[in-house]
Amino acid sequence: MTDKKSAVYAGVYVLELPLAADRIYDYSVPEHLVGQVRPGTIVKVPFSRGNHSRLAVVVRISPCCEYDKVKPVLAVATDRVSLDEEMLGLCSFIKERTFCTFTDAVHTVAGPVDKIAAGKLRAVAEYSYSITEAGRSASVRGSVRQRILECLREHTSLTKTELKACGASSKQLDELCNAGLLTCHKTELFRNSYERSFAPSQANALSPAQQQAFDELASELDADEARAALLYGITGSGKTRVIKALIDRAVSTGRSVIVLVPEISLTPQTVDLFCSFYGTRVAVLHSSLSPAERFDARRRIESGEVDVVIGTRSAVFAPLKNLGMIVLDEEQEHTYKSDMSPKYHTKDIARYRAAYHKALMLLSSATPSFESFYKAESSSYKLVRLTERYGEAKLPEVIVADRRLDSAEADMSVIGSVLSSEIQKNLDKNEQSILFVNRRGYNNFVSCVMCGEVISCPNCSVSLTLHKKKNSKSGMLMCHYCNHREPLPEKCPSCQSTHLNFKGFGTQLAETELAEKFPKARILRMDADTVSGRSGNEDTTFNHEQILKDFREHKADILLGTQMVTKGHDFPDVTLVGIVNADSALYLDDYRATERAFSLITQVIGRAGRASKPGRAVIQTYNPDNETLLYASKQDYDSFYGSAIKLRRALVFPPFCDFALLTLSSDKENELFAATNELDKRLRELIGKGGEYSNIAATAFRPIEAPVYKVNNIYRMRLVIKCRFTKRCRELISLLLNEFTQKYTSVSLSADINPTNI
Ligand code: ADP
Ligand code: ZN
Ligand code: ZN
Repeated sequence: MTDKKSAVYAGVYVLELPLAADRIYDYSVPEHLVGQVRPGTIVKVPFSRGNHSRLAVVVRISPCCEYDKVKPVLAVATDRVSLDEEMLGLCSFIKERTFCTFTDAVHTVAGPVDKIAAGKLRAVAEYSYSITEAGRSASVRGSVRQRILECLREHTSLTKTELKACGASSKQLDELCNAGLLTCHKTELFRNSYERSFAPSQANALSPAQQQAFDELASELDADEARAALLYGITGSGKTRVIKALIDRAVSTGRSVIVLVPEISLTPQTVDLFCSFYGTRVAVLHSSLSPAERFDARRRIESGEVDVVIGTRSAVFAPLKNLGMIVLDEEQEHTYKSDMSPKYHTKDIARYRAAYHKALMLLSSATPSFESFYKAESSSYKLVRLTERYGEAKLPEVIVADRRLDSAEADMSVIGSVLSSEIQKNLDKNEQSILFVNRRGYNNFVSCVMCGEVISCPNCSVSLTLHKKKNSKSGMLMCHYCNHREPLPEKCPSCQSTHLNFKGFGTQLAETELAEKFPKARILRMDADTVSGRSGNEDTTFNHEQILKDFREHKADILLGTQMVTKGHDFPDVTLVGIVNADSALYLDDYRATERAFSLITQVIGRAGRASKPGRAVIQTYNPDNETLLYASKQDYDSFYGSAIKLRRALVFPPFCDFALLTLSSDKENELFAATNELDKRLRELIGKGGEYSNIAATAFRPIEAPVYKVNNIYRMRLVIKCRFTKRCRELISLLLNEFTQKYTSVSLSADINPTNI
């Protein structure tokens, strides 16, 4: 114990503590370490009764301490990466806003590199592991097992060696595989998976409209203070070109730039474009990099070799110095919200970093989120518009195909008469088409005609989806949540009747039907099954990029797929797009359903007629008068927003409030109910009359089951609080979480602010 007078004290977060114990602890700094121990340094400290040596992050240094006796820091952990001032601040920011532990925040900000010593990253892959659908949402006992799952949620796949470096044992990996949470396969990993040869492409001059947008944004970029702007431009208006010109400006004045995209494999063009311009000055960070590749990229960034970082969500943490701009392309995409702990929104992180660096946060979209557009309208963001397509390209003609007319003719096929005849026209002219179907698989569900039984997953409260091999009669029933599979039964499992009914359709059925209707057409299908080949009964194992490349090279006439085909692709020869079932997007049970449907439909339509040939879009629906659909078919965001925002205001929904979602989960249903009731009671006590938090304007809704109540035998209940996410409100949630985690071991509780689904 140190003498109090001459001492220096360090406030630290000890790593790997449970949430309830995760707070700042004070230690004294021994004389020989004064100067070496700084905020951001990783140190070793004695912890708890046994005084076990633990790693900790120093967050503050001070000359005094409120306690009489404190233990001394043992040593500086020299083999660990330390955090700089900005990253340290960011960790506190993340902890405060997402209610994670400080350790989780450090891992998020600094990546797994703080765990893995550099030497181990040189290892070469032999077996690699990836997560199953079940593993995505599962939580398991044991911090190492949980971390294995978390690492694999972040990285598409990791090798055994890499996982072992994170502390995993072969036994734990085998167990997780046996539990169906991981899959193991043999693959080769390339250290520089994104190294390609690029011929620098020639720069094109900006159009007058683009130049105007650029000028307005450039003055935001040049301002010597943090700014935020929204570049709202219709599909094909050339937003990417404007962004590129802004990057040039930032880089020419010695500042660096982060460009974020929703998903790398779906935006190879944007990535290629930037790579071709900036060559070796660019680093690409995406989720399927191995820790080794990530480590290398980080080192290049830290050494100052790199001016431009392109990547997905987590690239927002790229350790660039002197940031000038952070761009979020397609800012409305839900992938910008982290779906695992810590559940941060990339926009908040970008805002934080922009403030630190006095940089510009630039959001770009053809269909901005209401939240962003509202901010742009109410002038906290600068709003810049691009209202016309570049060059000769015109917006496509939209045909709303009323499926009720087909039904009247007893045509129950998936591809109706109008869409069929448009596809035929395109085949005749040798022009390409894209069709969007919202689900994968063959049929959505199988039910019994006699007793009504729907065949559902034994582990989850969802129906099983039928998957079929091409040209095969038999099928496999699959759960899209836990990967459970079983052969299609011949009889109803409950009444033994042989009359089974197949309802709903996915990409496989649409593909089969297309092949029957257009036997000569070359069809490419793209969905989660065609990329992973994981389901075993699939014929294709292409990856996204290969499929997109083949389509671009005219190796197919029709590209058919899920959401993946709707993203920002730029195929000049596509003149027809079809939305096979618009209704599935329009009628979802979420307050943002219409916002998303509008965005989706606009995106799909935006894929057609992007070059000189005019395009058409066919929207199949049973509700041709739906307002959202009509606005989307005119690509009229302004009117759509104008009408929808009024409703939001009247209902006091975001952006006029925030939602805090508390999810309780457990494999024991009784304990889950008891805990839910207790939490509900406690919450009402705190915010109710006379309660400690009665002064915050919060409304608590009654507890309800999660939309999918049971996933992989874990039951889930929800509490929703409508509030303003202020400091006081954060204290309240933090208090609830702390009390809860101390009390319950068999029920877990997590908080998600403004969740993607509610
Ligand atoms: P957005 O991202 O707004 O949908 P893009 O940036 O993909 O639009 O541009 C649409 C198409 O127009 C692309 O093929 C792009 O190469 C082309 N384009 C846009 N602006 C220019 C320009 N100034 N010079 C040459 N081609 C351009
Ligand atoms: Zn039956
Ligand atoms: Zn299941």
